[in-house]
Amino acid sequence: MSDTVKNYIKFISGNKTERECVKSTIELAEKAGFKNIEEKDSLVAGDKVYISIYGKSIVLFEIGTTPIEEGMNILCAHIDSPRLDLKMKPLYEKNGIVYLNTHYYGGIKKYQWVTLPLAIHGVIAKKNGEVIEVCMGEDDDDYTFAISDILPHIAQEQMKKSASDFIPGENLDLVAALNRKEKKDEGKKAVLDILEKRYGMEEDDFLSAELEVVPAGKAKYLGLRKDMVIGYGQDDRVCAYTSLEAVLEHKGAKRTCCCLLVDKEEIGSVGATGMDSLLLENALYEVLSRFGGYDAIKVRRSLKNSYMLSSDVNSALDPLNMDLYDEENSSKLGGGIVFNKYTGSRGKGGASDANAEYIAKLRKILDEREITFQMADMAKVDVGGGGTIAKYAAWYGMSVIDSGVAVLSMHSPFEITSTFDIETARKCYSAFLDIE
Ligand code: MN
Ligand code: MN
Repeated sequence: MSDTVKNYIKFISGNKTERECVKSTIELAEKAGFKNIEEKDSLVAGDKVYISIYGKSIVLFEIGTTPIEEGMNILCAHIDSPRLDLKMKPLYEKNGIVYLNTHYYGGIKKYQWVTLPLAIHGVIAKKNGEVIEVCMGEDDDDYTFAISDILPHIAQEQMKKSASDFIPGENLDLVAALNRKEKKDEGKKAVLDILEKRYGMEEDDFLSAELEVVPAGKAKYLGLRKDMVIGYGQDDRVCAYTSLEAVLEHKGAKRTCCCLLVDKEEIGSVGATGMDSLLLENALYEVLSRFGGYDAIKVRRSLKNSYMLSSDVNSALDPLNMDLYDEENSSKLGGGIVFNKYTGSRGKGGASDANAEYIAKLRKILDEREITFQMADMAKVDVGGGGTIAKYAAWYGMSVIDSGVAVLSMHSPFEITSTFDIETARKCYSAFLDIE
């Protein structure tokens, strides 16, 4: 089995938040010779630099030999995943149980998040400027968290409700401790004492924290042939990790190569760390300013002449639910990297529809390098759909297509991918960086 899959399993097991992904990306990038752009006053061909955006998104550049205004080859993926976030005032006690209150992030089926071990990852920013990293529930001898559910014996009424509301979003609260005696607040106080000891925090520090609740435990090979991977957050770290590896191992760029790993895709790419911001443009200004000046037209041409693979996972054909899929136009696990000419829903609403000429250019290099790919729609027309970040890149006029790895049980706590597809994506991304 190749190292890519092994390293990928390690990556997603250890990096379950956008911040953890950026931190590890910086470590891997520095090992591969990348420098923080702030350490460089000027840039020349062959230089490798990165720019972190609030530690939640990151842009890496390998400067090529051709002028940047002739365009870049950009690999883009997102590093946030559906999860539950702790509320600003999360801690409360009810009838002997201490809970941590949450607000879900991204598109989840709420019932999938009850009765499984959960961990808390994130940061607490203290008033003195210190930012403390938090990770609770991952070590074998560490404690864990869970959300409870009603036993079947008394769930007649619950079972009659629709799946979207039989677990109310407000009830997705973590069991955090027991109040063992009848003394009111003893359990809550005990929790605060533990947090004080472990992280030096007080209750008010929750106000300036980003604590994300994710499934506990490591990703694993799945199936007797170990030809699949099961793990949390494969949407979209499977594309992010393989894109990153391709850029880190790339050498001798002609066109400048770029890897863009972004936050907030799951809630609409909003905010300063999402793709619907100037983060790519700002990063490009930083790069161009280190070539002894730039003008506005250079920035525009650099973006307009770029090629991008906007990678996000694709909904794999589910053999147990064939009525949802147009078999011929669906992606299969193990079928190689997926390209979606368009995404969107209904009449392609919200899609970025890739140009035929650009797809032809990609087909050529994929065929030359014998890389297996499949072209797919998400599902049958009108059964649903969704948007991706491609449209924010297309806004600059660049050539962009949605691509990525097929996933079964997408957006569930433990998603499934194929090892062949992961390796194929990695090869495809390397080939893409070589396009002239
Ligand atoms: Mn998603
Ligand atoms: Mn995604």
